[in-house]
Amino acid sequence: MLQVAKKILGKNRRRELSYCVRKFSNDGSSKDDPNRTHSSRVEANRENPLTRTLNILGSDMKKVKNFIFPKGKPAPVENVSDYLEKYRREDFQSHCDVLVIGGGGVGSSIAYWLKKRARKGLNVVVVEKDSTYQEASTCLSVGGLRQQFSIVENIQMSLYGAEFLRDVKELLGNDVHVNFTPYGYLMLASEHGAEQLQENSKLQNVLGAKNEILTPARLKERFPWMNTEGIALGCHGLEKEGWFDPWALLSGFKKRAIEYGAHYVEGEVVGFEFRTMHDVMTDGVNFGQYQGLDKAYVRMKNGDIRDIKFSLVVIAAGAQSGSVARLARIGTGKNILSVPLPVEPRKRYVYVFRCQNDNGPGINTPLMIDPTGTYFRRDGLGGNYLGGKSPSLEEEPSSDNLDVDYSYFDSHVWPNLARLVPNFEAIKVNNAWAGYYEYNTFDENGIVGPHPYYNNLYIATGFSGHGIQQTPAVGRAMAEMIIDGEFRTIDLTRFGFDRILVDQPLYESNIV
Ligand SMILES: Cc1cc2nc3c(=O)[nH]c(=O)nc-3n(C[C@H](O)[C@H](O)[C@H](O)COP(=O)(O)OP(=O)(O)OC[C@H]3O[C@@H](n4cnc5c(N)ncnc54)[C@H](O)[C@@H]3O)c2cc1C
Repeated sequence: MLQVAKKILGKNRRRELSYCVRKFSNDGSSKDDPNRTHSSRVEANRENPLTRTLNILGSDMKKVKNFIFPKGKPAPVENVSDYLEKYRREDFQSHCDVLVIGGGGVGSSIAYWLKKRARKGLNVVVVEKDSTYQEASTCLSVGGLRQQFSIVENIQMSLYGAEFLRDVKELLGNDVHVNFTPYGYLMLASEHGAEQLQENSKLQNVLGAKNEILTPARLKERFPWMNTEGIALGCHGLEKEGWFDPWALLSGFKKRAIEYGAHYVEGEVVGFEFRTMHDVMTDGVNFGQYQGLDKAYVRMKNGDIRDIKFSLVVIAAGAQSGSVARLARIGTGKNILSVPLPVEPRKRYVYVFRCQNDNGPGINTPLMIDPTGTYFRRDGLGGNYLGGKSPSLEEEPSSDNLDVDYSYFDSHVWPNLARLVPNFEAIKVNNAWAGYYEYNTFDENGIVGPHPYYNNLYIATGFSGHGIQQTPAVGRAMAEMIIDGEFRTIDLTRFGFDRILVDQPLYESNIV
């Protein structure tokens, strides 16, 4: 009985092996190969059957490897640009599940979170018009992180921003160096703003931030180089505040999103294709008249216009978000569509300066914001500082270009700096740059979530000067909204577009 079982088992196992050999072999190395010589067959027959099979398998694997990775030089490419264009075209995704417009800090964080969670389950395409990010707010920002806000959601998002940056190596990888510099903010209030400062501080501490209220006497004790005249109170961050390299954070999001399978396309979204959807009814619109969004037209670097069909689109185009929304008739249509996305570019200057004789505030200098909104902080350890001040509505400079107005420093920034730090009487501006706030003219806060008219359009923009620290939270929230259909961690419902429709602004008292 045992002998019979062994025989059958042996026969079956041989069959299995010879099947494997035939399956993987395309060159006749199996025992059925008519080209093999008789002597080699005899020789092979003398071998242990297992060794023989392993040898055959080994040689087959080599052949498979050579087939997949052929040796020798590849055929020369005659025209490199044609070749690259062909490659790009082949890589171009003409269909996707989620199309993200704008690959800055916000768009790249959304792509990262979507792909981190859904991997192959979602095809995510990010269209970015300038892969050098020359004018992107993210790269021109000063990278500050604070919890000193007045709105719960802003505090929560920045708390999560701090947590994300603390664990950034774990989350984005060891090759991402955001260089977080942990220094608290010091927000100063005059008599007029003192009560609000105290209230805000209470709320911030309840939510998990750590800061303390300082009287002028305590301020002077801590920061002897400061003039406390006209200052009623200060709020000093003790933890989870500081500044970091926004470019490194953006690159980290982008790198990991691409690794997880997101596709980045260099091109500008210049229009949308609409599709009549018969089975949808929206406010004020009859059946059969709903025009949904179907495709985006993208102008490629070489001027070609290509289209990408999507299931869902996210506007994360920073300062240009209002104009991208107009392409989708937001603000130019009827009923709900008559309400624009109130986001536009507003130019902000950042000046880098030095104190004469290097006698400015030392290493223990927080990021100071005085009651006029003038701010400064150290920039590295070499005696440089950077600072600025948002202009009032009447002083808003043109946003046609990013030229710097140095006279604005002399007239609007320097007098406030010199009042706060008497040693700043003698300073020299070494450098300066300008960037665009993606300014929400409605209430200077983020607009995050689905659009009330289009069932496949989402928005993440309008952060008005405090958006880079919120990118981890916003990306995560958008991924929740898209994948789970609701906010799961930080509830950003109040940040939705609906507040604009019902005219309920969400004012943040600590705008810089
Ligand atoms: C001077 C300055 C200082 C700041 N300081 C801070 C700070 O201390 N802390 C803080 O948290 N925040 C700060 N911010 C704000 C912060 O930088 C922004 O809130 C944040 O970077 C916005 O990111 P984003 O991705 O929305 O915008 P962006 O980084 O501008 O990215 C949007 C991208 O969309 C692309 N795009 C636009 N239109 C199209 C189109 N039609 N098709 C394809 N792509 C398109 C653009 O090329 C751009 O790359 C500051 C901003 C400035 C200007």
